[in-house]
Amino acid sequence: MTRECGTCTLCCKVMGIVELEKPKGVWCDHAVPGRGCAIYDQRPHSCRVFSCLWLLDEGLGEEWKPEKSKLVIVPDNDGKATKVFVDGSSPDAWKREPYYSALLDFMQKCLLEGRLLFINVGSKSGLLLPDANNGWRLEDMGKLQAGDEIRLKRAGHPFATRYEVEIVRRTT
Ligand code: SF4
Ligand code: SF4
Repeated sequence: MTRECGTCTLCCKVMGIVELEKPKGVWCDHAVPGRGCAIYDQRPHSCRVFSCLWLLDEGLGEEWKPEKSKLVIVPDNDGKATKVFVDGSSPDAWKREPYYSALLDFMQKCLLEGRLLFINVGSKSGLLLPDANNGWRLEDMGKLQAGDEIRLKRAGHPFATRYEVEIVRRTT
């Protein structure tokens, strides 16, 4: 990996950190925005192992650097879902070009491959889906729990496909 975070610190705002009980969408108490982490050597495991997709994929241009795009893309490590965390100060950042067109194309690619694309703003999680009326819709997923399974069912006319979403919650 040759890229570096530099002055970007956006993941320290948009992501939740379990060890610190830090919710999504608020700055970590230890973040020094534009500079880095005040407890870098003692930062939690979640922070140590995290790399956003922009760091990992040099195919994403400089315009996708999170501090510029206001979007932190979390890699699809389990082959099931890619998550885009949007800076709550710019909640519509993902609807700006060149991001908007690229994300809609990516949504179609994900669906063909059986994966999901989430657009998360603050604590809200939305599943991006095609929609016959507007071209897309964000399905509000509420608060998902670990182990939840999301099932999609295609319905409707082939040229006006609508996806219905079912959340299957594990009961123990
Ligand atoms: S969002 Fe990505 S580039 Fe920015 S600080 Fe986090 S890991 Fe680094
Ligand atoms: S502990 Fe440091 S690296 Fe982790 S979220 Fe807070 S500021 Fe960022």
